Amino acid sequence: MKNDTRIVHAGRNPEDFKGAVNVPVYRTSTVISQNMDEWDRKHKAQAGNNEPDLFYGRHGTPTSKALQQAMAELEGGYRSFVYPSGVSACVTAIMAFAGQGDHVLVPDSVYGPVRRISGTMFKRFGIETEFYDPQIGADIEALVKPNTRVVYVEAPGSLTFEMQDIPAIAEVAHRHDAVVVMDNTWATPLLFRAFEHGVDVSVHAATKYVTGHSDTMLGIVTTNEACYERLKAATLDLGQTASPDDCYLALRGLRTMGIRLARQGQAAGDLAAWLASRPEVEKVMSPTLPDHAGHAIWKRDFLGASGLFAFALRPDLGHARRQFIDALKLFALGGSWGGYESLVMPIDPPRTATRYPYSNAGIRLHVGLEDPDDLKNDLEQAFSLINTRT
Ligand SMILES: *Cc1c(COP(=O)(O)O)cnc(C)c1O
Repeated sequence: MKNDTRIVHAGRNPEDFKGAVNVPVYRTSTVISQNMDEWDRKHKAQAGNNEPDLFYGRHGTPTSKALQQAMAELEGGYRSFVYPSGVSACVTAIMAFAGQGDHVLVPDSVYGPVRRISGTMFKRFGIETEFYDPQIGADIEALVKPNTRVVYVEAPGSLTFEMQDIPAIAEVAHRHDAVVVMDNTWATPLLFRAFEHGVDVSVHAATKYVTGHSDTMLGIVTTNEACYERLKAATLDLGQTASPDDCYLALRGLRTMGIRLARQGQAAGDLAAWLASRPEVEKVMSPTLPDHAGHAIWKRDFLGASGLFAFALRPDLGHARRQFIDALKLFALGGSWGGYESLVMPIDPPRTATRYPYSNAGIRLHVGLEDPDDLKNDLEQAFSLINTRT
C-alpha cells in the first residue's frame, strides 16, 4: 500500500463505531469494569496504552489509540504515543533513555526549548548535554563517550536548515549502544522514512503539519520495537497524555497532510529559488536549493520538502528586517508553522558549538496554501519598500 492510501485508511475502522467514517471523540477518565475478571485483565494491560482495551483515560481513549495506530503505521514504526505538545514529546523521548551520569549529543541547530532544558532540568538531573555541529556526519564518533546514551538529530534544523547525514550518525551511535532520537517534524513521516535511515525514536510536533490548521498543540513519538518498553515507561511515569479533542483534530488533519505537503513544498521550493535570485538576499537556507550544503543529503534521503525555510537579508540591509516583516500582508508574523496559512518570523539562532554564518537579519517563512503568485507579490512589495527606504 502506498502512503497516500495508507494515510486515508490508517487507524480507521468504521465497524467499531456504528459505521462512522471518523473515530469519534471519546471523553473519559474512568472506565468501568463489569467484574473482577475484567478488571484483572484490563489492569494487566494497563501499561500498554497501545492495547485495544480501555483502562483509564490517561492511558488512552479510542480516539488517541486510533491516532497512535495511524502514525505508527504511516511511519513504519512499532508503536506511537501522544503528548500534550511537541516539546513534551521531545523531552520525554530524551528522558526515556538518559539519566544521571549520562551524556547526550544534541545538534547545535536544535529546536530552542530542547536547548533550554539541556541547560536547566537535564543539568539538574545530572544529564550532560553536548552540542555538536549538525553537519558533522560520521565524525560524530570523536564526540561519543562511553556514557553517551542518546544521539539527538533534527533535520533540517527548523531555524537554519542544516541537513544531517542521519544514516552515518546512526551507524556510529548504534556501534556505541546509543539511541538515535530524531525530531522529524519538518519532513513528517511522508517525506523522511526515519526508521529506514537508522532512527530508533521519531518525534513529531503534531502541532505542525499533522494537525495542519494552527488550532491544536500535540506531540507524537513513534518508536521501534527495541526502544518501546523504555519509551512506554517514561510516558507513563511522566503522566503524558493528550486530549481526545486534540487527537481527533490531528486525525482529521492527517487525512489531508499528503496533498497539503505536496502543494506547500512545491510553492516553498519555487519561492526559495526566486528569493535566491533577489539582490536583497544574502543566502536562502533551504535544502531544496542546489547550492545548499545539505542538498545532496536531502536528495539522497528525503522524499520531498515541506513549506518551511529561511533566508538572510544582505548584511547592509539588516536594519530593514523589521520594516520588511511589518510590510508583509499575507505572511502573518507568528511562531509555529505547518498550518494552511503563510507565516513569517525573525530568526536569531543561538549557537554554542558552531558559528551562525549569515547576517543577523534572518527571516523564516512558512509557505501556506495561498496562491504562490500572491505570496511572491507580497514579498516583492516588501522588498521594494525597504529598497525605497534605504
Ligand atoms: C514547534 C516545534 C516543536 C515543538 O512543538 P510544540 O507543539 O510547539 O510544543 C518541536 N520541534 C520542532 C522542530 C518544532 O518546530
